[in-house]
Amino acid sequence: MCGDLYCHSCGPAQGNCKCPNCGVWSMDGGCADPVACEAANKAACEAEFQAYQAMDNLEKHLKESHGMTVLMYAEADVNCPVCKELSSLL
Ligand SMILES: [Zn+2]
Ligand SMILES: [Zn+2]
Ligand SMILES: [Zn+2]
Repeated sequence: MCGDLYCHSCGPAQGNCKCPNCGVWSMDGGCADPVACEAANKAACEAEFQAYQAMDNLEKHLKESHGMTVLMYAEADVNCPVCKELSSLL
């Protein structure tokens, strides 16, 4: 903690958040177009969640079908239909 209000980790802890869409800090008045930013941030959040879920599914598949971790899979040269399809995620 550096305590800087405009620090990416300390700012939000002190109530000053930076908008991921337009980059404006809430203490600087916030977004010029809050509605547009909210929509953009929501879409980014959903994409992140979907990527996370896909990764989770792959992890489960590797564990259940191959007894492997994602790290083991990344290092190995495995070709099963599911893994092949999902290998672009790694
Ligand atoms: Zn800091
Ligand atoms: Zn914004
Ligand atoms: Zn597989």
